[in-house]
This record gives sequence, structure tokens and C-alpha cells, in this order.
Amino acid sequence: MTIFNFLFRKSSIECPRCQGKAFVDWEDIRRLNKELKWTPAPCAYCYGSGKVDKEMLLKVPVDYTYLTIDLTESEMEKIKKGDEATLEKGKMREVFLDNLIKYGEHHYLNNKMDAESIADLYLKTEDENALFAVERKYLIQYFAKIIELKTSELN
Ligand SMILES: [Zn+2]
Repeated sequence: MTIFNFLFRKSSIECPRCQGKAFVDWEDIRRLNKELKWTPAPCAYCYGSGKVDKEMLLKVPVDYTYLTIDLTESEMEKIKKGDEATLEKGKMREVFLDNLIKYGEHHYLNNKMDAESIADLYLKTEDENALFAVERKYLIQYFAKIIELKTSELN
């Protein structure tokens, strides 16, 4: 996008992901039900401007998990343009996370396992062809977060 376009583009409505704050905080994360998928960060949906074009809303769902600030700029552009391969990659990542969450909840609720044991079990039985590899220490942190959330839901 040239500077000229940037200055004169017909935006813009308040970004529905960060509600115009340009930053996604825990409140937004809870509102969009992404507690296990996002952490507070500058908003990738409006790219920290607080405003988005109407077309953006049609192309990319506001809660599209994979569009976060840690992507490269070219990946973000591809998502915003609706590039199929990139959107597919995002969908697979979401499925992977959803399965990991289910796995953690299952072993916590039914087998009373803690985060570390769940991580070790996961690594032992991990499919060699798994699409995403996660390091043990991050797995433990992640399962701990899943357990924490589940515990607060139950209380
Ligand atoms: Zn935003």
C-alpha cells in the first residue's frame, strides 16, 4: 500500500477485535473466547491502528485465531487478501490447538494428571507425522494454563 492510499483510503470503522484500542488485552481475549490461543499484544487485525476497512470484515473473521502480531508482514498480507493456502495453514493450526486442549482437559478431568505428566504422555505418544512440534517446557506451560482455566470454570 502506498502512502497515498493509506492517507486517502476509505476506511474505516472501529476495529471489532480490539475495539479501537489498537491493543488486544485480556478482556478482548475473553470476549472472543481465545484464552488458550492468544496473549495480550498489539492488535494484528487492525495492525495497531484501531480502525479497519469494511472489506476486511468480509474477508477475515474477527476471531480468526491465526492472524496475530507474531506473523511476518507478508503472511499477514496474505491472510488479509484471503490467500487460500495461508488460510488453510491457519485452520490446521487451530485444529491442532483444539485437539491439544481436548487432550489436556481429558487427562486432567478423567485421570487427575498434572501438566507435567500430561506433557510427558503427549510426547511419548505423539504422532511422528504431527504437523506441529512443541517443546516440552512449552507443552507443560500450555497444559498448566488449560488446567487453570478448567479449574476456574468448575468453581
Ligand atoms: Zn484492532
